[in-house]
Amino acid sequence: EAQKETLGFQTEVKQLLHLMIHSLYSNREIFLRELVSNASDAADKLRFEALHNGSLLESDPNLDIRISFDKDAKTVTIADNGIGMDREGVISHLGTIAKSGTADFLKNLTGDQKKDSQLIGQFGVGFYSAFIVADKVTVETRKADAATDEAVRWVSDGSGEFTVETIEKEKRGTSIILHLKPEAEEFADGWRLRNIIRKYSDHISLPILMLKEEAPAAEGEEEKQEDKTPEWETVNTAKALWTRSRSEISDEEYKEFYKHISHDFTDPMKWSHNRVEGKLEYNSLLFIPAKAPFDLYNRDMQKGLKLYVQRVYIMDQADEFLPMYLRFIKGVVDSNDLSLNVSREILQKDPAVESMKTALTKRVLDMLEKMAKKEPEQYAEFWTEFGQVLKEGPAEDYANREKVAKLLRFATTESDSATQDQNLEGYVSRMKEGQDKIYYITADTHNAAANSPHLEVFRKKGVEVLLLSDRVDEWLMSHMQEFDGKQFADIARGDLDLGTLDNEDDKKALEESAKEKEDLLKRIKDALGDSVEEVRVTHRLTDSPACLVVGQFDMGAQMRRIMEAAGQ
Ligand code: ADP
Ligand code: MG
Repeated sequence: EAQKETLGFQTEVKQLLHLMIHSLYSNREIFLRELVSNASDAADKLRFEALHNGSLLESDPNLDIRISFDKDAKTVTIADNGIGMDREGVISHLGTIAKSGTADFLKNLTGDQKKDSQLIGQFGVGFYSAFIVADKVTVETRKADAATDEAVRWVSDGSGEFTVETIEKEKRGTSIILHLKPEAEEFADGWRLRNIIRKYSDHISLPILMLKEEAPAAEGEEEKQEDKTPEWETVNTAKALWTRSRSEISDEEYKEFYKHISHDFTDPMKWSHNRVEGKLEYNSLLFIPAKAPFDLYNRDMQKGLKLYVQRVYIMDQADEFLPMYLRFIKGVVDSNDLSLNVSREILQKDPAVESMKTALTKRVLDMLEKMAKKEPEQYAEFWTEFGQVLKEGPAEDYANREKVAKLLRFATTESDSATQDQNLEGYVSRMKEGQDKIYYITADTHNAAANSPHLEVFRKKGVEVLLLSDRVDEWLMSHMQEFDGKQFADIARGDLDLGTLDNEDDKKALEESAKEKEDLLKRIKDALGDSVEEVRVTHRLTDSPACLVVGQFDMGAQMRRIMEAAGQ
């Protein structure tokens, strides 16, 4: 085991490395943010482990991150005394990408630098970003509970392989040594590094230390003593961002904090930062991302908030604090009421968690409502990214269904475009005299919905119809009974009741025509046999001769296809 082993990167890593180095060149200082972010995560993990095993911290209790550089050797080193990694961990974390859907993601990259850098940002570049500035990276790491001679050295030039060997390491944790590329030597500079740290990592709650630099001796002054040992000084604010008051946090700090916790590197769209006092005490900081993650519909998607208890990190992906249809929200919740020993099982049963979930859900919905009202253009962008997921809301969250319904956007016959930009309040305000229902039609595509023969009578009477063609729409509508006291009605289903929109003459004409055509109807029914239940005369159509209608209580066409696909 001790001897040196050479291993190959997983194919996806090679692809990612290649693309990253090219598309992130103009943004290369982010390597430091990513490595500091990892060091901070490693400290959080150690602190959490130490809750159960205090001896882990004993020898070296003050957690910090130390950044140093060597101008002559052209290196930058990022060292932490966090949880560290063992040999197995090194090989899997620094040789593969664990995210599911990675291969699909990589296929989506276009070769267009701007687009790709966006995508890669959402994907999260992480550790591998070291290779944007380094042509060789050395990682030396020792896991918190491992003996000093069971540390590991990992070395790679990022081209396809890496080596691992067992080494001795006195200090617990991880050091990452970047051997800078000739064109990145500028990073071996104290002033430059301090600037980058303050810009991207100020919010990190752990102290980030650098060696004090003596001001160059002024002329005439005597040379300083050579053997003075340099001192470490803290470069960042080093206080958990969410515990600070809103007024003293800049937008930039919020944005960088978001990038740290979300592993995203595009700015968030919106955030909401709150301190709650009273029966329950907690801080929350919730972000709406600007872009949907590539795995929004993947079961394994990282969802939920980062949970802290009294400032101590407890877990990632605490998905007990928000409903599934808000799974795109990123953020932190820091509770003063939960126990430090809290586990997922306890979270699931704790009534305090349930009331926090209710309150946090309301915060998000309020944030969206405000955006929809005050910044409709931004809300339109939000809808494009996350509207589909929000449509899961009425089914999952009965209590908030009216609130969610107000946030929904639809394509309708009013604008006659595929853009989902109409809301239900608008629809209701445009309802015709005597109209008591909200009409909709579902189809596989927008065009199929917009050109359905069922719409003919509505167009004639000038009655607006919602045109639904998303996969979730039938599911959504099966959970939407009414809005603002008006029932929803599927115009392709059962008897078409236009209520008082039909005048007596229309009704009479229909009855007469049905009588007249009794024979014809019977003949058609005989010819079609069991494939239809009934053949009726209708006034639904003005141009088309015939159309299919689903029974009032039958499954819709979309649902039927979903069930068929599932083998039902
Ligand atoms: P992410 O941070 O999104 O998980 P990264 O590529 O940044 O992805 O890091 C990959 C993994 O490598 C981390 O999840 C962690 O397990 C491990 N790792 C990276 N840096 C460190 C470190 N300084 N200490 C301990 N583990 C680390
Ligand atoms: Mg990371």
